[in-house]
Amino acid sequence: MSVDALAQTGDAESSAGESRALRTDVLIVGAGPVGLFAAFEAGVIGLSCHVVDVLQAVGGQCIELYPEKSIFDIPAIPVCTARELIERLSEQCRPFGFPVHLGQRVSSLTHRDDDKRWTVTTEQGLVFDAAAILLSAGNGAFVPQRLALPEAPALEGRLVHYAVPKLAQFVDTRVIIAGGGDSALDWALALCKIARHVSIVHRRQTFRAAAVTVEQVRRAATDGEIDIVTGTIVALRAPHGALESVDVKQIDGGVTLPADHLIALYGLVADLGPIAEWGLDTRGGRIAVDTSCYETSRAGIFAVGDVATYPNKQKLILSGFHEASLALRKAYAYAFPDQKRVHIHSSYDQKLSARILGDSASSAGVTGDKPVTPRHLE
Ligand SMILES: Cc1cc2nc3c(=O)[nH]c(=O)nc-3n(C[C@H](O)[C@H](O)[C@H](O)COP(=O)(O)OP(=O)(O)OC[C@H]3O[C@@H](n4cnc5c(N)ncnc54)[C@H](O)[C@@H]3O)c2cc1C
Repeated sequence: MSVDALAQTGDAESSAGESRALRTDVLIVGAGPVGLFAAFEAGVIGLSCHVVDVLQAVGGQCIELYPEKSIFDIPAIPVCTARELIERLSEQCRPFGFPVHLGQRVSSLTHRDDDKRWTVTTEQGLVFDAAAILLSAGNGAFVPQRLALPEAPALEGRLVHYAVPKLAQFVDTRVIIAGGGDSALDWALALCKIARHVSIVHRRQTFRAAAVTVEQVRRAATDGEIDIVTGTIVALRAPHGALESVDVKQIDGGVTLPADHLIALYGLVADLGPIAEWGLDTRGGRIAVDTSCYETSRAGIFAVGDVATYPNKQKLILSGFHEASLALRKAYAYAFPDQKRVHIHSSYDQKLSARILGDSASSAGVTGDKPVTPRHLE
């Protein structure tokens, strides 16, 4: 099982500045555990959906913050790692084949008076036309923590970087990597093979990375392949638009390091970002919902998982699953305003069974079931 099992769409779609609207019953914003389960539930209920996430991988906090930690409070799974949970959820969604658009940060929202649907765009150029929106945006979009220096914005993207999209630009250059986590150390090890010089600047002498990586970096430092500088970057010198050096403040003074590129890998921070401008009632950075259906103050927009708030809200994956399930049942009324949804338990749902198990397995399972079908109008 792998998260690749999902119908993920990536750069090809996102880079084109596409303007053709992708029509869907529900747009799910956030592919964390709750967004993934919501995609499955949408399929169960008979709703189409598209899922969007700003990150390049599904899984939200589970993958970004604690992939190898064990989780013990998911019903019927006595223990699994956070990564395994995301793999299982991805596998559960797979039969529906809903598109998952990665690297897409949802930004603007418009309500259309004529057909009562929503137009939602992403910063990368995708446009969605949705009957309902389900926000499972956690703490907001994870974005890189940026350098808080006035000189940085003018250099960002050219000479100051928060990720390493292309190695080629660092060949035979002097690179400073700021940070002390896995990502900073991994890139230092990779770049010291092609750059003219690599320095790691970290505010402490200890690193927050895997022991084996720390060991490799220390060995590379002993061999003269990497410099380790303990201190904090306080200024960037780029008098003619090109980075020349970086000033580092240290306990006992400071040092100026010559540099062509600075890669700051301080980790990710969460930011509700543009969603905060959507006119939804919020409390303490969370979106207030009606707990009968997890609808926000704007009809047709739902909030579930960590992004939602209500009295006694628990930030648990289990709670988010429940919230998504109820929200989507109400969302059905926006997608199909003229239809009454018929509730069928999944164990008696032949269409669902055929979708998940395939036609033959489905009919085999159903023929022996003679008792009253638990089917009722909601
Ligand atoms: C260390 C740690 C251990 C934990 N252990 C447990 C545990 O044992 N059991 C438990 O139940 N819970 C646990 N939790 C809490 C649990 O991880 C969260 O409750 C859960 O991840 C919430 O899921 P979510 O899908 O609502 O949000 P998230 O997992 O935060 O996912 C939200 C997703 O939305 C995306 N997003 C946000 N804004 C946008 C936007 N504008 N455009 C596009 N994408 C966007 C983000 O990139 C992110 O991928 C733990 C949390 C931590 C940090």
